[in-house]
Amino acid sequence: MIRFTDVDDSVVEIFLSTLEERFPNLAQLKIKLIFDTKRRIKDGEIVLASTELASEKIKFFSKDDLAVEGYDIVIIFDQKAWELSNTVDRKRVMSHELRHVFIDEQGKVKLLPHDISDFRMEQKLNVDDPDWKFKLATLVNDVYEQEKEMAKQSKQLGKGEQTW
Ligand SMILES: [Zn+2]
Repeated sequence: MIRFTDVDDSVVEIFLSTLEERFPNLAQLKIKLIFDTKRRIKDGEIVLASTELASEKIKFFSKDDLAVEGYDIVIIFDQKAWELSNTVDRKRVMSHELRHVFIDEQGKVKLLPHDISDFRMEQKLNVDDPDWKFKLATLVNDVYEQEKEMAKQSKQLGKGEQTW
């Protein structure tokens, strides 16, 4: 099984509406959206989504009918996190990721680290539910842990192990 898969229409829909509403300046970019089926942990926290600048190599490999010169940006969504999110949180995740993307005066695509700018704009937009990310991350992590536990149990059953 390949770890990454194509996103479904629910992602594309929220991507397009968020782009139109909040990031019209990014409409000129080719942005590739994919699902990651594996949990990622960074600094002890689950990664709900991440944004990467496409390398020359990725650009070459990602060429398709929509992006004849390849994609500029790749946004990777944890598939489970997306499935467990409601529409409001999905939009928050999408908006956060797009907030990373920046086009400079020369037209060069860059990424903004949030530790520096802190995305004050996003905090303002989510002031009604400041803990949304923590709540979602906890839920997603719990589901991953449950699945891990279940896989372990079925493996033990398969081996006929007695745990009592
Ligand atoms: Zn971020």
